[in-house]
Order: sequence, then C-alpha cells, then structure tokens
Amino acid sequence: MYFINEQHINELLKEAKGTSSKEVSRIIAKALLLKGLSIKETAILLQCTDKTLIAKIFKAAEKVKEEIYGKRLVLFAPLYLSNDCTNNCLYCAFRSGNKELERKTLSLEEIKRETVALLKEGHKRLLLVAGEHPRYANIEYLEKAVKLIYKTKVRKDQIRRINVNAAPMSVPDFKRLKNTGIGTFQLFQETYHYDTYKTMHPSGPKADYEWRLYGMDRAQEAGINDVGVGVLFGLYDYKSEVLALMQHITHLEKTCGVGPHTISVPRLEPALGSSISYAPPYPVSDDDFKKIVAILRLAVPYTGIILSTRESAAFRNEVINLGISQISAGSKTDPGGYTQQNKQAKASQFTLYDLRSLDEVIRDISEMGYIPSFCTACYRLGRTGKDFMDLAKPGLIKEFCLPNALLTFKEYLIDHATKETKKSGNRVILKQIREAVSPKRRRVIEQKIKRLEEGKRDLYF
Ligand code: SAM
Ligand code: SF4
Repeated sequence: MYFINEQHINELLKEAKGTSSKEVSRIIAKALLLKGLSIKETAILLQCTDKTLIAKIFKAAEKVKEEIYGKRLVLFAPLYLSNDCTNNCLYCAFRSGNKELERKTLSLEEIKRETVALLKEGHKRLLLVAGEHPRYANIEYLEKAVKLIYKTKVRKDQIRRINVNAAPMSVPDFKRLKNTGIGTFQLFQETYHYDTYKTMHPSGPKADYEWRLYGMDRAQEAGINDVGVGVLFGLYDYKSEVLALMQHITHLEKTCGVGPHTISVPRLEPALGSSISYAPPYPVSDDDFKKIVAILRLAVPYTGIILSTRESAAFRNEVINLGISQISAGSKTDPGGYTQQNKQAKASQFTLYDLRSLDEVIRDISEMGYIPSFCTACYRLGRTGKDFMDLAKPGLIKEFCLPNALLTFKEYLIDHATKETKKSGNRVILKQIREAVSPKRRRVIEQKIKRLEEGKRDLYF
C-alpha cells in the first residue's frame, strides 16, 4: 500500500528467521558505528530470540544513546485542549461512540489557567493534544491557543516550545499552524497495517488511511521541518509495525530530505468506554517493548524517541537507558486536568501509570545520573529539520545539548525544585561539568550558571 509495502515486510521477516549469530553480531557492530540500519538488518534484529544476543542489542543501544545524547533527557508535558472528537477509534476514550465520557473543549481563559499551572510547576515545553472536531479543535482554535500560550507569563517564566499532536491537516492549514511558531507536529499512524487500520477506525475523517499516511508530507510541504511519527503498539504485530515505520522514515528521507525528528512509542492502555483497550489484539510484553526501543535506537540513532507516562515509573526507568531521549512528566490527559483534578477519570484519554509529579520525576532521573533538560535552543535558533540532523550527525549536538540541558536544569532547580531535588540536582550538575563538558565550554557554562544564580534567565548556546 503506497510506500508501505506489506508483502516486502512479510518477506523480510520470513527471511530473517534463523539468521546466524555471526550475522546478528555483525549488524550490532555496524550499529555501534552510529551508521543506522537498513530495513533488512532491522528485521534480523527483530527476529532475534537468542537471549545472549538480545542482551548484546540492549548493551549496544545503551552505548549509542550515551554516545549521541549523553546523559540528558528532555522533559515536556501534554496539554489536552479538547476531548471532543468525530472519529470513532476503537481504542480511545475520546471516540465519538463513547457516551460515558465527559466532553470538554477548553476556552481560551481555561487554556491560560492550565498554562499558568504548568509554568508554576516548571515546564517549558508543551505538547498540545486534541481530538478531531471541525467545530472545536479547528485551525482557528489551534492558532489562538498556540499564540495565547506563548504570550502567557508567570514572572520570568514562559513556555518556550509548543509541539502539537492533532488531526492531520491540509497544506494551507499546516502553513497557518507553522506561522504560530510551533516546534514539532506529531501524528501517529497508529497501525500501518491496512486491514487493521480499517477495522480500528470505522468512521470519521480518520478512517482515510491515505490522508493520514501522507500527513507528514503535507506538514513538510507547509514548512514544518520537525515532524514526529509513531505507532500505537498493541493493535498489530509489533515487528511488522517497526518495519513499516522504517519504510515511512525512508520515504520521508527521500521526499523531504530528512526523516522524522521524533518517534513515539505509545503502548495501548486501558481507556474508558473502549473494550479493545483492555484486551489488545497484539499485546506487547515489557520485554518486547524494550526490544522495540533498543532496535529503533540502533536503526535510527539520530532520531529522538519519546516515552510517555503511559508506562509505570519503574519500567520507564528501565527503558530510558535503552534509547529514550524525551519523556513526559506530571501529565494529565483530560482537558482542564492541571487545574480541576477531580474530574480526571471521566474525561481522560487513557489510564496513566506514572503519576509522579515533575519534581519527583526530576529527582528520580537525576539520581540515576541523568540531566533533565528543558532546552529549546535549536528550534529557537532555527536548527531544525535537515540543519538539525546535519549538526547532530557529527556529534556536534553534544556541544550544544549538554550545556543547554545543564543551564535549563539549573534554572529549574533555582525556581521550582524542592529542597531534596535541589540537592541531588546540583550534585549531578557539578559532576557533569567536571566529567562530560569539554574544557572549552566549561568556563563559559560556569559563568552562565553564575548569571542564572544572579537572576538572569533563558541563557543558551
Ligand atoms: N486526535 C488526534 C489523533 O488521533 O491523531 C491527536 C490526539 S490523540 C488524543 C493522540 C494519540 O493518543 C493517538 O494518536 C493514539 O496513538 C494515542 N491513544 C489513543 N488511545 C490510546 C490508548 N487507549 N492507549 C494509549 N494511547 C492511546
Ligand atoms: Fe479522536 Fe484521536 Fe482519540 Fe481517535 S485517537 S478518537 S482521533 S482523539
């Protein structure tokens, strides 16, 4: 189907079965050179069942992550604008057929209140999320929402990057969205498997597989350089989905000159009024999920991988090491959830398993040696799309990313952290400056940190 070739995927998976351990080891060694993998090589790793080799894949993924991303981990929060939806995706609580859900589209005043609540927590990067509804989450509404959020201030704090996860649009509407200054536009195909797609999306505009599949092409055509793809794992065989994702990435590289900025890996979670979400047709075990993340890390080393609060805190801590570069924290998936917490269950999109606050997440990950980052420098300096990838590939991004992570983390510690978080955070910052920053950058970072302590904000490279 289109650039998704199911027959080829099936053949690759069939041929890959029983590949020698020597060949698997060769592929792992190639991945360690940060060269990425072909679809065929990806299929071979997906078919690998040997425990020792899988352990090698995990080790290699950890190494690749460390090499490219260092110890930083970007943090964001979703802001749900509307749960009104004309689609009937069988897995989602927002589906039109769900009569149990309390419907809500935030007014501009409510959006402002939610933004203020998130700013007070310390967030700097938001992902706007909305159902698909011509009367509610239309382009006019999204434009107003983005502009308002960027304008909202709490003392010196402002949201510095807004990404959007909403229905695919026409090129002119994407252009309007681009002009509001958004960062990444995310759109998950959910399943690339055509028949499964048709079953899961019985009505509404989302029933059109092709319109969705080419959504990222239209976004790029409209000038949105950073696009985010994803699969909803649990709807169809995960191995086929990963290979289809690779076909999508190859297509974007060919037609737009650059692959996606991020890949999201949501796993199907229980959702109100969705029986399928309680019994996924192709459940993905924790072990398989780890394999998915590790193999993607090896296959497309420079593409960010996003993990949400759909996963539990303990499991997230395990998976992060295998290649995650961005996580959400302190999330709510009901419109208005950050300011009126009592309504959660009846208006939420799905069950969340990581209920820690932003501060708790930050403390936990910094105790694991990670640097939480709120950095938005690349996007604000125009280092997006192909420019970002060109910079990322020789490893230069480390020169910017780590210092910027340290500066934004320090800002968080000064303005928002609890006493315990401050203590462990400051320790990690000192350690990183000593051990991971190039001598050339070290002095400048120390000077910038001093300026932050004196009250300056928003310093970056
Ligand atoms: N309505 C737009 C759409 O469907 O593209 C954008 C927002 S939708 C709320 C965001 C994503 O949530 C979907 O793309 C889907 O992958 C995910 N999602 C829906 N139901 C889910 C569930 N039960 N568990 C986990 N993720 C789910
Ligand atoms: Fe609507 Fe998106 Fe949920 Fe489908 S996944 S019902 S389009 S909000």
